[in-house]
Amino acid sequence: MIIQPKSRGFICTTAHPEGCARQVQRQVEYVKSKPAIEGPRNVLVVGASTGYGLASRIVSSFGAGANTIGIYFDKAAEGARTASAGWYNSAAFEQAASDAGVKSYSIVGDAFSDEIKAKAIDLIRAELGQIDLVVYSVASPRRTHPVTGETFSSVIKPLGGTYTNKTVNFHNGEVTQATIEPATADELRQTIAVMGGEDWQMWIDQLQAAGVLAEGATTVAYSYIGPAITHAVYRDGTIGAAKNDLEATAKRLHEQLRTSGGRAYVSVNKALVTQSSSAIPVVPLYISALYKIMKENGTHEGCIEQMYRLFSERLYGPEETAVDEKGLIRIDDLEMTPEIQAAVATVWEQLTTENVYDLSDLAGYRREFFQLFGFETDGIDYEADTNPEVDIPNLR
Ligand code: NAD
Repeated sequence: MIIQPKSRGFICTTAHPEGCARQVQRQVEYVKSKPAIEGPRNVLVVGASTGYGLASRIVSSFGAGANTIGIYFDKAAEGARTASAGWYNSAAFEQAASDAGVKSYSIVGDAFSDEIKAKAIDLIRAELGQIDLVVYSVASPRRTHPVTGETFSSVIKPLGGTYTNKTVNFHNGEVTQATIEPATADELRQTIAVMGGEDWQMWIDQLQAAGVLAEGATTVAYSYIGPAITHAVYRDGTIGAAKNDLEATAKRLHEQLRTSGGRAYVSVNKALVTQSSSAIPVVPLYISALYKIMKENGTHEGCIEQMYRLFSERLYGPEETAVDEKGLIRIDDLEMTPEIQAAVATVWEQLTTENVYDLSDLAGYRREFFQLFGFETDGIDYEADTNPEVDIPNLR
């Protein structure tokens, strides 16, 4: 079939297998062009098919030569429907890993469930023995609790008061004011249940109890802080409260793993175009302004550059892992320099529908959004008949 993008707002319901494969290949080539990392041997990535999780998996295999198990929630093609981007990404990753002679396995299903945790433990036992790095990179709108059966939904809302700021429709460049009403106490509770640390803790507890976590194992999850412009809707809002919970979980896990020489961290990453970040009001306009300034400054990075730096300089660098006063790894350091933030704040005041393409990298944002789904990628013939049915080699 001829596969074209079909998007509604921040959702694209089609994906292109060859475009996704090309995007994965580009990340693999980047890592292969960099010095090898003396890093983990066997890695479990929970949330491994797109964004930061996929990049972590690529750096593990092609930077450190590690075997990986990826857990993700993606759909195969069915009838006239293409597979999701994460499905095609993972198929391409597994093919590249097998060509490179490193083991890789995939489990598709709900990472929040006990069933998928048990399946992962069985697979580790059967194929890898033990895991020495667990990357937790799940971003989800919903979670069903494995014990109580309650299904929680996360919301992106401010706390305590209404929030109004600029936002952009990245399809047509229209800059408007977004007004978001504050979350209720129950929405806050549910968002923490989805995006906080409870499930990460459950993964580590169950891996440890099953004896498949190696002595001295490391675990890392990802967070975001960002600028004052987005604080009300992000860091001081419902999602920030969930990140506070994730960060508190890292502290607990660090103590838990330390007795066997292990470590747990939260890495604060840069704002980037991913399926999750495009759903947050205000953030796409901030990212567009940020990208233009960081590209001009020569310090722009994507997921793969961020994760290569996290692994090679922080988690497995020559020196002990550097953390800030709150114990967080700050790989968002280049985004948060005072010069970059002052430049973004100045541009932010000026941004309107009329000047958004001149003052920000909105065109780059939109292109990267479609690239997440394998579109707008150089070298792909989008008019060609393409088979949407792609197998993932080591799907368990
Ligand atoms: P993403 O949407 O690209 O990836 C999310 C991954 O989670 C996918 O692999 C998806 O399949 C998987 N997933 C979702 N629900 C699942 C479920 N129930 N079971 C199994 N897998 C499931 O998101 P991302 O932007 O890479 O975010 C990953 C982490 O990085 C999040 O904690 C996010 O807050 C954090 N982060 C993101 C940014 C950013 O700007 N994108 C910045 C800093 C930190």
